[in-house]
Amino acid sequence: MFSEWLEHESIRVRFVLAAMLAAFLVLTVTLWRVQVVRHGEYSKSHMKQSTRCVRMPASRGIIYDRDGVCLAENRPSYCIALYAEELRQAGGWKRTKEEVYRTIQRLSRVLQIKPEVTLDDVGRHLNRRLPLPFLAWRDVDQRVLARWAEHAGKFPGVDIYIEPVRMYPMGRLGAHVLGQVGRTDLSPETDDEMTYHYYLPDIEGKYGVEKSFNQSLAGKPGAMLITVDASGFRQNQVKGWESKSGDNVILTLDADIQQLAEQALEGERGAVVVLDPRNGDIIALASSPTYDPNDFGTGLNAREWRRLNSEASRPLFNRAVSGLYPPGSIFKPVVCAAALESRAGTPNTGFSCPGYFLLGNARFDCWRKQGHGWLVMPQAIEQSCNAYFCQLGMATGPESIIKTARALGLGTLTGIDLSSESAGLVPDSAWKRRVMRDGWRGGDTCNISIGQGALLVTPLQMALIASTIAGKGTCYKPRLLRDARKPGQVLRKLDFSQETWRVISQGMENVVQAEHGTGKRARVDGVQMAGKTGTAEYGPRDARKKYGWFMGFAPVEEPRYAMAIVIEEAMSGGITAAPRIKEIMAGAFGAASGAQPDVEAVPEGEIDG
Ligand SMILES: [Zn+2]
Repeated sequence: MFSEWLEHESIRVRFVLAAMLAAFLVLTVTLWRVQVVRHGEYSKSHMKQSTRCVRMPASRGIIYDRDGVCLAENRPSYCIALYAEELRQAGGWKRTKEEVYRTIQRLSRVLQIKPEVTLDDVGRHLNRRLPLPFLAWRDVDQRVLARWAEHAGKFPGVDIYIEPVRMYPMGRLGAHVLGQVGRTDLSPETDDEMTYHYYLPDIEGKYGVEKSFNQSLAGKPGAMLITVDASGFRQNQVKGWESKSGDNVILTLDADIQQLAEQALEGERGAVVVLDPRNGDIIALASSPTYDPNDFGTGLNAREWRRLNSEASRPLFNRAVSGLYPPGSIFKPVVCAAALESRAGTPNTGFSCPGYFLLGNARFDCWRKQGHGWLVMPQAIEQSCNAYFCQLGMATGPESIIKTARALGLGTLTGIDLSSESAGLVPDSAWKRRVMRDGWRGGDTCNISIGQGALLVTPLQMALIASTIAGKGTCYKPRLLRDARKPGQVLRKLDFSQETWRVISQGMENVVQAEHGTGKRARVDGVQMAGKTGTAEYGPRDARKKYGWFMGFAPVEEPRYAMAIVIEEAMSGGITAAPRIKEIMAGAFGAASGAQPDVEAVPEGEIDG
């Protein structure tokens, strides 16, 4: 018995001896490598190796509307974190890596959630970010947390880790203005790389004002100092320096009017811009269809992003600043300005409309088939007569029209603090030669005079033209950052005669306020409004669709709002776009909304612009 024990024990002793010898060998080789082979580099970085500096992201600034309504804030997100130093296994990295992964699999069964990371992910983390917690699940829900609380005792080396996540308490409201955040790259090419050994993933603005004002919102990162042992495992944590929270940002948006604008677009493809012509403040900027930016709170989910981007309706696309549309008849005030300023026409310049205009063999139909008869300029704006504007345009000439369109900002970016803004297109003879390999013809002049042809504008550009008319030539740069102390920045000041602005404003006032105005459905009780309707056809010949437009400003005396709306599949500007502006403006002026316009029913196709 004893001898048996002895034999058994001697096997154990021999085994232990052999193991010790092996370990000694490994140690010797390692020491030799450290001391002899890599002596140079080790001595240089010895200090760094014992204390590591981890970059701690700052808490991101909050975004408010102009009245203090919170549009973007941060909420705590609960993650399941594994600490390698507590799960560390003797006998090398591979075993520690496998132990971490086994723990994740055990957790997966207990917490009833699928693993979201692979063995390779674990390996990468241990290699590059060993002293930092490994986040196996991010943003887990309350049920998972409850299960965790029940089983936490069985999992040494595992804990809850809280990270801030961007949250948009109003949901979809203002999504295209606010934009989204996403994680910064883990190896940013910045000076920080020299200062910090490890990064905790930060979030940064990827789109919208989250991107434009990222520098203010982001704040300054802090640092946490941790000491690590020779293998790189965390020993303890020493305080570094505090991060500096990002600044809060107050936008010019009015959440209530923004809400009305989004409601007006519900179920449609289109866009609305409402701005303050006295300073350029963007009051509402909406694009439809839209999406919920909370879906991107924990970082851009590539699959969701692709899905949203591949949808035909393109909900991520900001139609208000990036959408390009032919303006149709809302361009006609620009033609009036060109005619008046070039002295090719006066307010009393008259033309006759038999229901069409003939140019050689080409026929340009007026929307009113029976014709408008004899019209002078303000009446022509009010009635939006195509035949009148073809003739006025031919008399004015394309150069003046093109020059005026560009002077009013078409074909150039407005400089709004949102990326992916489109400049649009004001075609001229050089453009036509280059792109169409053809010269400019009379038909092109007719087309541009009624806002058709190759002319392309954004809803924001048209809202700015409305703002310029409201401001009698002064146009403020559109701004999203509210600063009540700062006056607006003048984007351009047109030295057109006061008579030009008066004639155009009078015509536009008639569009809304006069009995037969094409925009009477935009009328709001107690508010004098000026506007212009527009309808532009597009699509294949056998399946024509119509863009419905309205642009305008209110009140006519001392305007507070300038606006533009486009609906992609409209009956016409007067029928589809104008009543939606009525809803928004009724809310903005605190008038009773919902009431039907006090205008007689108009047969389909009868009202147009
Ligand atoms: Zn006509």
